[in-house]
Amino acid sequence: MWTRIRVLGMREVAKIGYQCLSDGDMEDWISKPYVEPSSTPTLFAFPAQTNLNGRRPPLRWCRQICAAAGEGEGDFSSLLDAASFVSTAPLHVNEIAPGFVALSFYKIFGCPDLGALIVRKSGAHALHGRKVFGGGTVDMVIASGEKWHVKKQTSIHEGLEDGTLPFHNIMALDAALDTHKRLHGSMASISAHTGWLAKEAYDVFSTLRQFNGTKACHMLNIRGDWIPKTEIEKVAATRNIHLCSGSVCNPGGTACSLRWAHTDLRRHYVAGLRCGADHDVLEGRPTGVLRISLGAMTSLEDIQSLVHFIRELYMKKTPHKDRSSLCSSGKQQVLRASLLC
Ligand SMILES: *Cc1c(COP(=O)(O)O)cnc(C)c1O
Repeated sequence: MWTRIRVLGMREVAKIGYQCLSDGDMEDWISKPYVEPSSTPTLFAFPAQTNLNGRRPPLRWCRQICAAAGEGEGDFSSLLDAASFVSTAPLHVNEIAPGFVALSFYKIFGCPDLGALIVRKSGAHALHGRKVFGGGTVDMVIASGEKWHVKKQTSIHEGLEDGTLPFHNIMALDAALDTHKRLHGSMASISAHTGWLAKEAYDVFSTLRQFNGTKACHMLNIRGDWIPKTEIEKVAATRNIHLCSGSVCNPGGTACSLRWAHTDLRRHYVAGLRCGADHDVLEGRPTGVLRISLGAMTSLEDIQSLVHFIRELYMKKTPHKDRSSLCSSGKQQVLRASLLC
């Protein structure tokens, strides 16, 4: 058996290694009638929504992988990265039954800067192997003479909360929950609102055409000649439009979608490409994407001003009267956009 981990950094602590699975691999694995039990803990991690393009893999996977492994057989669990999902959708943890859920409150409320790890009690022992400990997590520790300590065991979280808790933020969470509810109602209504906006935006951007009929914007997976993404991001910011550009914390998804192989990425590194740097186009191809992120407070006017901005600066009305200072003549101009909803 192998350790399945899709959350990149976590592979470093996977003893046996990690494997990235496609949707098809995943469905195959789930549909197997019997999975060999393993003494090595195995974690299957996936995002409830990818923050590259907003895609939502099936949440039923959490239950299905446990069922495939046989509940209690070996040590098999799921980790749902819900950080992106929870900003625009209700998450019913009890129905989905993941082993662990990671989420960020700032993505829902803006403030406070807190995150949460929701742990299913039956799988909490996986967290007990932690070697290091911080203040507040031990009942007793001897500093000299003998190396001895006893971790707090009355609750799961007490043994994990190192140091002083961000208590102001924790108190502010209460106010954030109330305010969010008052302003936006339920998560279901936010989901309906952002789903509608995403469709509106998608429809407009996918039909925007240059004077000669070529597409002005390409959603993921279509190629063209490229306007540097950081240029668009910077110019947009001067208009108070804030876009996210680069690999948007999804190096795997970005490389796949832009068809860069791992050998290409090594070459790019040698050529000077760094996370957050301005190397927008290498070897004639883009190194990242531009992302439009939608949330509870996004309005149709926001989408319209983005469309207006693109029309004004990146679209040529006629072959001769190019009113844009930013369009290079002759080339098809492409904005690569992905939508989050
Ligand atoms: C934002 C995000 C993260 C990172 O969360 P932080 O609280 O900002 O560290 C992880 N996964 C996904 C899918 C996200 O959207």
